[in-house]
Amino acid sequence: MKHSSLCQKLSIGAIEAFAIFDGAIGMDPADLFVPNQAPQPEADGIRQQIRGGEPGIHSSVLLLKTGRNTVLVDTGSGPGGDPNVGKLLKNLQATGIDSAEIDSIIFSHCHPDHIAGTLDVEGNPVFPNAHYYISENELAHWSAETVRVNSLIPEAMKDFVVCTAKRALQAINSRMSAVRSGQEFLPGIRALDGAGHSPGQIALAVTSGSNTLVHAADVIANSTVAFKYPRWASAVDEDRDLAATTRQRLLDQLSADRVQMFAPHIHFPGIGYVERRHSEYVWQPSPLK
Ligand SMILES: [Zn+2]
Repeated sequence: MKHSSLCQKLSIGAIEAFAIFDGAIGMDPADLFVPNQAPQPEADGIRQQIRGGEPGIHSSVLLLKTGRNTVLVDTGSGPGGDPNVGKLLKNLQATGIDSAEIDSIIFSHCHPDHIAGTLDVEGNPVFPNAHYYISENELAHWSAETVRVNSLIPEAMKDFVVCTAKRALQAINSRMSAVRSGQEFLPGIRALDGAGHSPGQIALAVTSGSNTLVHAADVIANSTVAFKYPRWASAVDEDRDLAATTRQRLLDQLSADRVQMFAPHIHFPGIGYVERRHSEYVWQPSPLK
């Protein structure tokens, strides 16, 4: 991807927002987003369609300059793992933003592609002046002594997922506030219930004046499957029924309200609108400069 396309700016009223590319996760999106139990021949058709596109799964992070706060939503995959991702810091610098400027970090949820960039390889916080926000349900889930991972990933990967979340949360635990769905915990930023993909996942409504952008977190994680078959759970959804119900509800809301959406794993910059067409939905990427 060329330099100029690593960061996409847009305005939400008086708020400046930037989608910043963290890389493309080196996993097969067809494996992840088309469940084994999906009905044939639709599943094969969609798998083929996905594999005909770009390889990997795009991952990006939203930065908000609200006038009062400089806010990062999630910290990406960080260093030391998949070499295709963890490019957030470099791309923030290329955009002219120093990590010390960021005063607030919101975690949509604690999967490694959203939280592992919190620490450097030595385990030190990357953002020296940040205060952290996380949903109280998500914090309680990952702080439990034994954390069960119900998603359909290999056992070895489950250990990595749990260790990564615990390590990050422990390192920043004195600088963290727990928030609830529905709460406006920073001016213009309200948590929305996104539970299912992860037990306490939150989406966000970012509002300035009459303008709103919804950060959909991983409620809506793939533009081929999530809109056409919103009931199909992905292999990384922890509670597959709840994830599907939450997805359907958010798609209904976004299409009815014609609200612009950002989703970290939809093809970069992942900004657009949801249209409802009968029983399915269609993704309309925003025309951006
Ligand atoms: Zn994710």
